Amino acid sequence: MKNVLVLGGGFAGVEAAIYLKKNDLDVTLVSDRDYFYIYPTSIWIPTGEVTREDVSVPLDSLAMKHGFKVIVDPVRAFEAKEKKVTLESGRVLEDFDYIVLALGQDKIQHKGMEHTLSICGKPEEATALYEKLDALILKGNGKIAMGFGGNPKDSSAVRGGPAFEVLFNVDTYLKKKGVRENFELTFFAPMAKPGQKMGDKALVMMDKMFKMNNIHKQVGVKITEFVEGGIAFEDGSKIESDLTMFISAGTGHSILKESGLPLSEAAFVVTNEYNEIEGFEGIYAIGDSASLMGPEWRAKQGHVAEVMAKNVAYNLFNHIQNIDSKQSYMEHLNILCVMDTGNGAAFVYRDNKGGKMIPMPFVGHWMKKGWGWYCRNSKLGKIPRIPGM
Ligand SMILES: Cc1cc2nc3c(=O)[nH]c(=O)nc-3n(C[C@H](O)[C@H](O)[C@H](O)COP(=O)(O)OP(=O)(O)OC[C@H]3O[C@@H](n4cnc5c(N)ncnc54)[C@H](O)[C@@H]3O)c2cc1C
Repeated sequence: MKNVLVLGGGFAGVEAAIYLKKNDLDVTLVSDRDYFYIYPTSIWIPTGEVTREDVSVPLDSLAMKHGFKVIVDPVRAFEAKEKKVTLESGRVLEDFDYIVLALGQDKIQHKGMEHTLSICGKPEEATALYEKLDALILKGNGKIAMGFGGNPKDSSAVRGGPAFEVLFNVDTYLKKKGVRENFELTFFAPMAKPGQKMGDKALVMMDKMFKMNNIHKQVGVKITEFVEGGIAFEDGSKIESDLTMFISAGTGHSILKESGLPLSEAAFVVTNEYNEIEGFEGIYAIGDSASLMGPEWRAKQGHVAEVMAKNVAYNLFNHIQNIDSKQSYMEHLNILCVMDTGNGAAFVYRDNKGGKMIPMPFVGHWMKKGWGWYCRNSKLGKIPRIPGM
């Protein structure tokens, strides 16, 4: 039986392990944490609507259900030519026929980022956001700034949606507590039109939402640095903030940068549309680790990571059997997101034909909750998978 090593236990790695196992391969997944973290529903941690445990699925439960093996031990080095993986403990993993790289991405580092917290960083940061917000509410007033940064080398690695979601959720939460007027909320981003990937109509709607909810906006000026108590900008302006949430744009994972694999300008692993890597037979890169091909508006997303994972399970199995049939992720490229506001949501969809943003007051919030429930239980095999989800 051929053996496959999957590095990373996020959307891409878990989905790959599940689908590779369906093909009766011997599958081992390596992760630095013992749970699969459902990032899209972690946006409710800062407002206390859910806890980290609510949006985490233990990897051993997934492994037991699907029959793959799990090693919880961070990858310290990957030498691609030798197909050799060294773990933090010193353990070396060699002799795997195939390796699937699904380690996610790193974040671009900016001056003073230690003064910020991110909803897209380590899960512990989401909990720290909750604690800091709680402390501000106890104090009775404060200034809160939330935003995201750009990556001029790869716009697909810019993650703005969760910044809007957390900001609107905080606004709703403060209103529910009856203390909104004691807080100043500001959205910031260095680009002139943050969120443009969603399309022009979405931008107009976002502006309306900012105005309606008295959320200030500072965009189009480069961030110089984050400091204790605020953010400094290139034009000399400053946002004062007691709590700054900043989602830095992505860059390639540090382990993969040193692996000897071909990298894009932004340090993501260069693959073809079948997630194969030229010159490295038997190694595949999927999810946020891979350099995403496609139109300018493309974005690294969970559903694209899962499509890549399923494709790789198919492509790899056919490779073993010398069958010349492969699946590409290109026709599945779109932006699909239910952007939550805490009391509703907006359905966001973007493809080559353009963008849509459809308001879904009240019901949208519960739809996203329903998706979180579906994600956990379908992965655990407790309910059937809906085709395409
Ligand atoms: C707050 C938030 C909201 C989002 N909302 C949406 C949404 O609504 N819709 C959507 O489609 N997408 C959404 N996304 C994007 C989506 O979550 C990502 O595209 C997706 O998680 C990518 O999956 P991945 O497996 O490639 O990376 P990740 O999910 O980041 O997984 C990488 C895994 O590798 C592990 N790892 C990292 N380094 C090591 C190491 N050295 N050794 C061992 N293991 C390691 C990590 O622990 C992690 O489990 C959101 C993202 C965030 C952060």
